[in-house]
Amino acid sequence: MIAENMARVERKIEETCRKAGRDRKEVTLIAVSKTKPLPLLQEAYAYGCRDFGENKVQELTEKYDALPKDIRWHMIGHLQRNKVKYIVGKVFLIHSVDSFRLAEEISRESVKRQVVTSVLVEVNVAKEESKFGIRSLSEAAALVEQIAVLPGIAVKGLMTIAPYVENAEENREYFQALKQLSVDIIQKNIDNVSMDVLSMGMTGDYEVAVSEGATYVRVGTGIFGERDYGETASL
Ligand SMILES: *Cc1c(COP(=O)(O)O)cnc(C)c1O
Repeated sequence: MIAENMARVERKIEETCRKAGRDRKEVTLIAVSKTKPLPLLQEAYAYGCRDFGENKVQELTEKYDALPKDIRWHMIGHLQRNKVKYIVGKVFLIHSVDSFRLAEEISRESVKRQVVTSVLVEVNVAKEESKFGIRSLSEAAALVEQIAVLPGIAVKGLMTIAPYVENAEENREYFQALKQLSVDIIQKNIDNVSMDVLSMGMTGDYEVAVSEGATYVRVGTGIFGERDYGETASL
């Protein structure tokens, strides 16, 4: 079932890229495996998936320890400063940096371990109360500039979580706004900042996001099926 789902999502990404005049290689599919047990991740791995997304530190590190080391782990959930130390050196990309204090902690821990941690600044483009992320575009640009001078951390781009909507087209304006913000930041020519990465689009709206320039799409339900939060996922 996982292989079929992944093949379907792959097909749709490819088709959307073709229509948008984009190279398929510009878009990476992240399989969002939160709450899902190891055998399902192993199925995705067997299919060829090497990018997995998790939103909880403990779950990410447990899965990291249990699965092959060529997997790129993406931290996509809200991150507390006191948990940064558990994932630096393990995580390929942190998508959810939304404050300078969090960036400072990632920097400190990365310098200690002599690694450079790649991060995205999370922007709450739709300004939803219930979500994390920077709500003002100008503040997001300022945060990128502030983080840029910290050692051991590299800003690679931006991330957004669009609202849950019935009609994905409603989110197009938010994806366009995130893309425009990245273009604006590129024009500032900030040292140590690249804006190559746009992490946007989930199961309900990844095709719209790809057509607006997403380089990472984060798909959970569309690959692994509905999540059951009723019981804790057992590995
Ligand atoms: C859970 C989650 C996803 C995946 O959501 P689906 O709708 O299941 O594809 C993507 N991004 C983030 C940040 C998430 O927490």
